[in-house]
Amino acid sequence: MRKRRTSWSTFHGTNPLPQAQGSQAHPLQRFLGIHSLLPFIIYYPVRQMERARAQTRRLVGGAPCLDFANSVDWDSEGRERPAHTEAFTAPAELARWGARLGLAPATITPLVHGRELAEARSLRRTIHSLFAAIASDRAPAADPIAQLEEDYTEAIGAAQLTVGDDGWRLDWPEGDPRRIRFAVAVNALDLLRDDKQLARVRICPGNNCGWLFLDTTGRRRWCSMDVCGSRSKMRRLYERQRQSRDVSKAEPRI
Ligand SMILES: [Zn+2]
Repeated sequence: MRKRRTSWSTFHGTNPLPQAQGSQAHPLQRFLGIHSLLPFIIYYPVRQMERARAQTRRLVGGAPCLDFANSVDWDSEGRERPAHTEAFTAPAELARWGARLGLAPATITPLVHGRELAEARSLRRTIHSLFAAIASDRAPAADPIAQLEEDYTEAIGAAQLTVGDDGWRLDWPEGDPRRIRFAVAVNALDLLRDDKQLARVRICPGNNCGWLFLDTTGRRRWCSMDVCGSRSKMRRLYERQRQSRDVSKAEPRI
C-alpha cells in the first residue's frame, strides 16, 4: 500500500506560487507560508478534544495512577481544564476506564454512582498535585498527602488478599463501586515507595496539558510526540517564520 505523506513539506509542495525567498517573496506567498501552519496548530488541540473519552483516552503515563491523573487536562496552576478535556464525564465513564485498565471486571461493570465519581475526581486532584510537585522538585503540600492517606486507609480496610496466576495482590469485591479508586490509591502508594520509579516521574510542559508520565528512557520530554511534541514543533516553526517575516519587513529598502 502506498504510504500516505503527511509532512509539512508535502503540504507546501502543493503551493502553486513560484518559489522566492526573504524580502523578495510575494506578499501572498509570505502569507500562505506562515498561515499554512495554522491548520496544524488548530488541529492538534481539536484532536485532543476528540479523545476525551474513557474508552479512547491515551494511556501514556506508565502507571495506572498517572493515567488516572491524565483523564483530564491541567493548566499551569494545576487546575483542571474545562469539561471538553474531561474523560470521566459520568459514573459509567469511570467504570469503563477501570475495566479498560483491568482495575475492574470487564464483564461485570461495577455500579459506579455519582458520589463515587466525585470521590474519584477528588483523588485525581490529590494524585496530580502530589506527583506534579515531585516532578517539579517541589515539596508536596500537606493536604494531598493527608487525602491520599485517607483513600489508601479506606482501600486497605476494604481489601481482600487474594492469590492468582500473577501472585498475591489486594482485591475488592467485583460489585464494589469504590474498587477503581482503591486500586488507584494503592498504586499511587506503590509508586511513592519506589524510589527508582519516583525519580522518573515527569510532567508534560505542553501548554495546558499537565499530564504525568514515567520517563523510562531518560530523554522523554512530552506526554506524546503526536500531540504536545508536534504542537510545540509547529509553534516554534510558526514563530521562526513570523520573526523572519518581521525582520524582512524591517529591512531598509535600497
Ligand atoms: Zn502534553
